[in-house]
Amino acid sequence: MHSVPERLESLVRGLALPQGRRVGRSGHRDAEIWIEAQFARLALMPYAETGYALPYTSGRTQFTNFAAIIPGRDQSLAPLLIGAHYDSVIDAPCADDNAASVALTLEIASRLKSSQLRRDVIIALFDAEEPPYFLTEAMGSIRFYENQTDRRGFHAALITDLIGHDVGFRSLAADTPEEIRRLVCVLGAESHPALPAIIDATPTPSGLAAIALRNSYAPDLSDHHIFRVNHHPYLFLSCGHWPHYHKRTDTPDRLAYTKLAAITDWTHALLLKLADAPLPPHSRTPADADSTAAFEAATIARAIPPGLLQKFGLSVPATRAGVDAFVGLLLRETYELG
Ligand SMILES: [Zn+2]
Repeated sequence: MHSVPERLESLVRGLALPQGRRVGRSGHRDAEIWIEAQFARLALMPYAETGYALPYTSGRTQFTNFAAIIPGRDQSLAPLLIGAHYDSVIDAPCADDNAASVALTLEIASRLKSSQLRRDVIIALFDAEEPPYFLTEAMGSIRFYENQTDRRGFHAALITDLIGHDVGFRSLAADTPEEIRRLVCVLGAESHPALPAIIDATPTPSGLAAIALRNSYAPDLSDHHIFRVNHHPYLFLSCGHWPHYHKRTDTPDRLAYTKLAAITDWTHALLLKLADAPLPPHSRTPADADSTAAFEAATIARAIPPGLLQKFGLSVPATRAGVDAFVGLLLRETYELG
């Protein structure tokens, strides 16, 4: 019996091969076969009558999404979706982007099989998230959303991307302290009033700290876009950019598998709570447009010791201005690194 980090590493190594998974390349076809085999290994129920593969075309190009379903107790309820993209931006392993999230999704699918939840859970692996398809009508998550015929709609969506690495600060490099390295960002809590309390009630495992940020700080970096614009509750988990982002050096040996395992455990716990939560339709008024500012500030205050914030010239955040200052630091130190 392998440990969770070992299982995740073995999945990443199975998918993140040297030729990559670019749309139209032979490596993409290999990835499709691998995903089919993984879903079959877990004996998941296909989402469509025709099987796990959901092929589609755009122009003359062929694409394939994959989806399976974990049946819940109440088939009348809208399903919860957990999803990640599996394509790669270049002909290279792209382990962090996004084999790590595929591994997390498969590990969670295998755990969900033995626990019957209140509602169905859709396990989705999307094609064509990367440029030149990003946010176009060929993007896998957009096509999955537009083509789905399930009249129950979606309860909520959990999306992950770039979750396999330790956060590193440009100015500190290898000396980046553990309190920064262990961070994961969770975006989108503002998409439903019940989400902050769900995040607060889900403590992170040791070795991981989550900071909540509103999505507008890094607009629609991944497949949560289509769920946000259609007003579904969503959460997007990411460790952001690192020096190997979209480079040939994004290889399986560079990932932090213990952290990835902690993110998997935490995502699994969030998913169990989301599946149970009613998340009733809600209407937002301009007055509560920034209702998550204090919540976001509290997650930062919980994750980063005051002394460390002080080193960067920041005080413990309590308001939107405090969160802005911390995000400013985070973006300066990590965004488009390398
Ligand atoms: Zn990417």
